Amino acid sequence: MHFELLKKYSGTAKIVLSFVLLLVVLDILFPLPPLKEYSKEILASDGTILTSYLTSDDKWRLKPNLDEVSPDLVKALIKKEDNWFYWHFGVNPVSVLRAAIKNLANGETVSGASTISMQVIRLLEQRERTYLNKIIEIVRTVQLELKYSKKEILEIYLSLLPFGGNIEGVKSASYIYFNKPPEKLSLAQSILLTIIPNDPNSLRLDKPNESVLKKRNQLIKRFEQKNIFLKDQLSDALNEPFVFQRNGLPNIAPQLCRFVRDKYSEDKINTTIDLDIQIQAERLLFNHVNRNWLRGISNGAVIILENKNNSVIAYCGSANYNDEISSGQVNGITAVRSPGSTLKPFLYALNSDKGTLTPKMQLLDIPTDFSGYQPENYEQVFKGEVTAEFALVNSLNIPAVRLLEKSGLEEFITFLEQAGMNQIQNQKNKLGLSLILGGCGVTLEELTQLFSSFAKKGMLVPIRYGSEDEMTDGIKIFSEQSCYIIGEILSGVERKDIVDLTYYSKLPKFAWKTGTSYGKRDAWAIGFNPNYTIGVWMGNFDGKGSPFLSGTEAAVPLLFDLFNSVDYKSDSKWFDLPEGLAKRKVCSETGLLPSANCTNITLDYSIKDVSRNTVCKLHQPVYVSVDESVQYCTDCLPEKDYKRNIYPLYEPDLTIWMMQNKYSFNKPPEHYDKCQAKYTSIGPDILSPTEDYEYLIEKNSGQEIMLLAASDSRVKAHYWFINDKYFSKTKPGEKVFYAPEKNNLKITCLDDKGRDKSVSINLKFY
Ligand SMILES: [Zn+2]
Ligand SMILES: [Zn+2]
Repeated sequence: MHFELLKKYSGTAKIVLSFVLLLVVLDILFPLPPLKEYSKEILASDGTILTSYLTSDDKWRLKPNLDEVSPDLVKALIKKEDNWFYWHFGVNPVSVLRAAIKNLANGETVSGASTISMQVIRLLEQRERTYLNKIIEIVRTVQLELKYSKKEILEIYLSLLPFGGNIEGVKSASYIYFNKPPEKLSLAQSILLTIIPNDPNSLRLDKPNESVLKKRNQLIKRFEQKNIFLKDQLSDALNEPFVFQRNGLPNIAPQLCRFVRDKYSEDKINTTIDLDIQIQAERLLFNHVNRNWLRGISNGAVIILENKNNSVIAYCGSANYNDEISSGQVNGITAVRSPGSTLKPFLYALNSDKGTLTPKMQLLDIPTDFSGYQPENYEQVFKGEVTAEFALVNSLNIPAVRLLEKSGLEEFITFLEQAGMNQIQNQKNKLGLSLILGGCGVTLEELTQLFSSFAKKGMLVPIRYGSEDEMTDGIKIFSEQSCYIIGEILSGVERKDIVDLTYYSKLPKFAWKTGTSYGKRDAWAIGFNPNYTIGVWMGNFDGKGSPFLSGTEAAVPLLFDLFNSVDYKSDSKWFDLPEGLAKRKVCSETGLLPSANCTNITLDYSIKDVSRNTVCKLHQPVYVSVDESVQYCTDCLPEKDYKRNIYPLYEPDLTIWMMQNKYSFNKPPEHYDKCQAKYTSIGPDILSPTEDYEYLIEKNSGQEIMLLAASDSRVKAHYWFINDKYFSKTKPGEKVFYAPEKNNLKITCLDDKGRDKSVSINLKFY
């Protein structure tokens, strides 16, 4: 039965099939002209257009989605141009017939039969008006209808309609003539836009033109007669005034727009920018730079990340994009600059994760020579010994460089490379210990991304600019515990760089680190809390320094303003105390686990199974006389009249520094001078020079005298001083030479047990 039916129709089926095949071949051989290039649009996260760019043929050709256009405008256009648009297949047979009859009767070409689809074809490819071309256009129109839905055709139409000059499409026209998105057009404005494309070169809206309004009102009346739209609406439209003008397209966040335009290829780029926050940040940065202008600071940059999805919600690459004097078009967020001290928290966090550092541990802050490199502290004073947290909050340089040397420069560079610091990766073979003080290049973008890992339990997640950018988990670079500790240290209220808080009503809690580059060319402040990570850079794009360009003075106030304004709704929820982080008792002078000799105890963070359990060895018992004037060893200890005191026995470096700087510290008294064992433990024996010899020195000859001392085998180092000024470090028995320039030399040798000997020598110059 079925077979017979098939046989019966097989002939017809073959014909139909061949016809379809022919159409497919024709469609391949003569494809529809390509759609035109659209203006690239950059949108805020709420869909507001931030900016748009001219196409390569210099047109404003913005592509509206149908839902972005006022329904009144769509309705007016369809009613005016092609009432049966949704019903025909591209060609309206009734109007074709009507036009053909008219043409025959009048002997001229009348173009009344054009549907919207046919107009689209004509907008895509221009042809001379001939009958043959008319037929080609009809074929093309059918092709168009087969390829696109009615909605798509309408959208192409709305984006190609000419509005005079280089303005194409209703979206471009809406922004340029009415300064608003096409969904907000009034009925009068919508109707006005439907008549311009009929004669875009004379019906212009950028200068006063009576005939435009006349034509608008004619169309309004026609709609009134045909009962299209409500009567009240139409009479309002009739009376609506119109201002002839031409506006520019929006130009919000120009630095961000240029940045994402180059980053993404789409016509419409939906960014993660929060328009309100962007505008607030721009205003705060602009005002802040204005206030600092006379202090030699002409620019700044701000980037704000929302931590929960790692998206950029504000991006200000310069204070004023249009200011050429300050090179406002330079993007301060991607510019490579010296980070000053901003990398220090990462080094502290790394050491915390290694177990070698807790906040209360002591770090040396004394002048140190790192094979010729002698860093200074910012305030050019040294503090002797400080806790790690004090060193970090006050951004002391020596403790940071010592820490970097101890924990390994290579390892830190590798860490920074893996943490997305691309500039550092490029320079890695040229970097030295000064890296931790800013002797390298970073961008504000990289730095802020890295700081956001502190707010994300140690996960480094790439910054998202586009709302469609993938959300990744990122990589783990710190433990949650170390992040918490760094957050606590850097948010401490005892910070001295804190701004006058009475000025801020809604300031949330946040942690921050400042940075000032060498020569005061860059001022940084990067802050984070659970909600946001904010990066601020201040400086000049020509690289000029200013005495006011310090992180604390120039960048911190803006960071405070930004947190105050962006996060004011915050109920100040801080990070949760992570599991495995607890406080333990430590010796308050070393931050190490207390021994029985430690008397001052304090509490310090410790990470379970990570922080080392080193016991304090600073405090050692020493036998002394009751009046504490004589020290005894076990050999000379009397049977009574002695006591056991605890003394801190500092590292030799620190002992020397404290002696040099006349620090008073608790030192054990001299060893009992009648002790027989004393000579083996009395300290260095200076063998050269000697007091009982007169040295003859030829003037200006550079002639040297030898310094040499011996010690018992427990001594590992000698420290030489000339007239109480540090000169050199040697091993016991190792010679060192000194060229004296004047008489009266006091030469001191100090051993690493803190014992010293001095000789005063006679020199004779000839
Ligand atoms: Zn102790
Ligand atoms: Zn003794």
